[in-house]
Amino acid sequence: MAKKVSVNKDLCIGCGLCTTIAPDVLAIGDDGLAGALVSETTDEAVEEAAASCPVAAIVVE
Ligand code: SF4
Repeated sequence: MAKKVSVNKDLCIGCGLCTTIAPDVLAIGDDGLAGALVSETTDEAVEEAAASCPVAAIVVE
């Protein structure tokens, strides 16, 4: 089942870790912060990315 994914840019520090774990879903934008490439995904890597984010900026629901 697809899950919604988003990034809280107020928390993101632009470390890039999530983009290496889930490159199909998350990418660093022109603002230097991570953003979701899609609004919903079935890619389970995004769960690992969310768990690995040092500031817990990734919301998966
Ligand atoms: S891992 Fe977290 S802090 Fe790092 S770029 Fe991704 S969302 Fe931002």
